[in-house]
Amino acid sequence: MISFNEPPLVGTEEQYISEAIANRKICGDGPFTRKCSAWLEEHMKTAKALLTTSCTHATEMAALLAGIGEGDEVIMPSYTFSSTANAFVLRGGVPVFVDIRPDTMNIDEEKIEDAVTERTKAIVVVHYAGVGCEMERICGIAGRHNLTVIEDAAQAVMAFYKGRALGTIGDFGCYSFHETKNYSMGEGGALLIRDEKDRERAEIIREKGTDRSRFFRGQVDKYTWVDAGSSYLPSELNAAHLFAQLEQAERINADRLRSWERYQQMLLPLEREGILSLPVVPKTCKHNAHMFYIKAKDLAERSRLLAFLKERGILAVFHYIPLHSAPAGRQFGRFHGEDVYTTKESERLLRLPLYYGLSEADQNRVVAAVKEFYGK
Ligand SMILES: *Cc1c(COP(=O)(O)O)cnc(C)c1O
Repeated sequence: MISFNEPPLVGTEEQYISEAIANRKICGDGPFTRKCSAWLEEHMKTAKALLTTSCTHATEMAALLAGIGEGDEVIMPSYTFSSTANAFVLRGGVPVFVDIRPDTMNIDEEKIEDAVTERTKAIVVVHYAGVGCEMERICGIAGRHNLTVIEDAAQAVMAFYKGRALGTIGDFGCYSFHETKNYSMGEGGALLIRDEKDRERAEIIREKGTDRSRFFRGQVDKYTWVDAGSSYLPSELNAAHLFAQLEQAERINADRLRSWERYQQMLLPLEREGILSLPVVPKTCKHNAHMFYIKAKDLAERSRLLAFLKERGILAVFHYIPLHSAPAGRQFGRFHGEDVYTTKESERLLRLPLYYGLSEADQNRVVAAVKEFYGK
């Protein structure tokens, strides 16, 4: 059986977790949390990176920081995970879904401005598969209309757009360190803050609405409740696990990219014959091999291919049901413009096994099965 995903493991996780226990400090914001934040700030180049309990929670923090309230509209793609929309719906916001580009599966930057109204407060982009959205164009639109830009960069740790790390380009970036992502702490994430001015309020929101971070820095002599907030700090045990993997980030990234490129090369002949489509990475983007997907002709063919692979012990999976067609999406949001690609392309997409340490032999089996399905 070839799994779709296996959580990364580099070997030093246990040692670091034991160290965290020996430190007698397993609540949030201890030495390992500080190391992870410093690593992210240094490697991604951002004013502040705050470790959180998930990407979902990082996005909820971003919604609070962006001041989203009742009836505020937030433009986002429909082809994404529920968390992207939930964070804003929880504040009374209205997701306004716009269509995606068929090549990258990312929000179509050319269709955003038409969806802007007087009620629009923010644009949320999702860097699908770790491939960057057209951020220059999107930040330009945001600037003209005074909108906050939030990057759902859950899949995009160690991925870049025009040399800048995804997650650091908009006002706020949200990373995921869930075990299905490239670097893992079990459940966890990070909020990246571009501007120093947003840092203090973010720290307060993350610490139950208190100025505890200022207190620890010695800036105030007692801490107190100063704003609305919640508890978004992960435990040191999780941070220790993550730090082990961040230290090896280059190795994990190189291994994933190698697998990704092998898939690409081995499946290229099928694309050339017009049998299936492969992912597109624009020249402006350096991706992180979060995912390798192929696109079948349509939903029926994809279903047959999935079943065919499963019979051969290969676990391939499809991905999002577009949010605007989901019950909660219909209730809380609306689609602006025409759904030309969102539904159609999502129905064709199929993700192949890809994880740190995927062997070439297993990869060859996957490719051979895909080729066999298409009679090659
Ligand atoms: C995984 C993922 C999330 C959620 O991440 P958690 O850390 O599990 O909350 C959100 N958005 C996208 C695009 C994701 O892929």
